[in-house]
Amino acid sequence: MPGMMVDSFGRVVTGLRIALTPRCNLNCIYCHHEGETKPNGEISDEMVVSVARAAAELGVRSLKFTGGEPLLRCGLAGLIAQMPQDLDISLTTNGIFLAEQAGPLAKAGLDRVNVSLDSLRPQTYRAITGGREGDLEKVLAGIDAARAADLAPIKLNVVVLKENEAEISDLIDFCREKGLILQLIELLDLRHQGLSGDIDAIERRLAARADRVRVREMHRRKKYFLDGAEVEVVRPMDNTEFCANCTRLRVTSDGKIKPCLLRSDNLVEIGTCDCERIMELLQEANARREPYFGKTRIINSEVR
Ligand code: SAM
Repeated sequence: MPGMMVDSFGRVVTGLRIALTPRCNLNCIYCHHEGETKPNGEISDEMVVSVARAAAELGVRSLKFTGGEPLLRCGLAGLIAQMPQDLDISLTTNGIFLAEQAGPLAKAGLDRVNVSLDSLRPQTYRAITGGREGDLEKVLAGIDAARAADLAPIKLNVVVLKENEAEISDLIDFCREKGLILQLIELLDLRHQGLSGDIDAIERRLAARADRVRVREMHRRKKYFLDGAEVEVVRPMDNTEFCANCTRLRVTSDGKIKPCLLRSDNLVEIGTCDCERIMELLQEANARREPYFGKTRIINSEVR
């Protein structure tokens, strides 16, 4: 029986995030491109399937597809249908093509989705994403299709920016109404573009209004419950606790295992579809994992 992936900091890998393509139909002002610099080609279906099987053998329980935009991947439903049965399969999407794909993807075995939507106001949406007239409406229809296909829990990913700070209350109301979990994400200004968003102030307001707070095991993310709404706050920057509780490995869109979003100097090239060999490569990447912010050991207290 192969072992789990546990790194030298005591962190267990339970999640894998695979970028299926570097291509995207939006051009968000802040996009970190999942930490990819110069992707070279697109990982094959066969390799994705082998990586998923190898990861499942090594104790991975959840697999998230990302991109670029994963809904641009040809034959996505067919790929999802080949995933190991016991994995939780999700994807993160900008939602523009979700209305037509939610049903078939759910049938193929997709369990849930995250929809990235930073604004409900057409002008702000277009300014942030570079999207076209009508795209916002398509995303909203995509969310409704995901609800109808029961791709739940559906999370709405919102990167907190000065452009959308005034909308956070509206976004909370929207999520409460639609039964979505709002995920407020701290901006990683990796390209040093001078973008900003005051997630501190927003979290203080959430804490003051919350009926209840829960701390999730992954990254010790805080979840605030307010009047029937659920708001999770994702704050990786300079956060030693976040890194100390990281349970993830990543695979780039060109087939490399990436131990950390914020580093590109420790990638492991896959280069094979042999499951046994990929298990070794996953273990090698796991051995290269180290907390980006601080090298603290896991403190397993206060998890509710
Ligand atoms: N196109 C897909 C989508 O929109 O969800 C998948 C790729 S996108 C890079 C994945 C997630 O990363 C999105 O929720 C996006 O908001 C988030 N993201 C991208 N750049 C970011 C940044 N600089 N800081 C924080 N989150 C970021």
